[in-house]
Amino acid sequence: MKKNYNVIVNQKWCKSCEICVAICPKKVFDMDNFYAAANRPEDCIGCLLCEKLCPDFAIEVRLKTEKEK
Ligand code: SF4
Ligand code: SF4
Repeated sequence: MKKNYNVIVNQKWCKSCEICVAICPKKVFDMDNFYAAANRPEDCIGCLLCEKLCPDFAIEVRLKTEKEK
């Protein structure tokens, strides 16, 4: 069964470094004007690279709950 993830960018903390855009293996992120936006969360494989490498702790990745699927 495919796992589904929520990918949340806290734009208040995002400093627009574009690391997440560069490192996500599934290209989940785009830059949306100044801030990163998780535009393709359905492609996320839950590797957590973005969460670990964002220097501003602005990204949260978590498994969807049964209700959210
Ligand atoms: S890595 Fe973090 S600070 Fe950098 S653009 Fe992505 S969300 Fe923003
Ligand atoms: S957890 Fe991995 S696949 Fe998902 S958005 Fe972050 S870097 Fe991309």
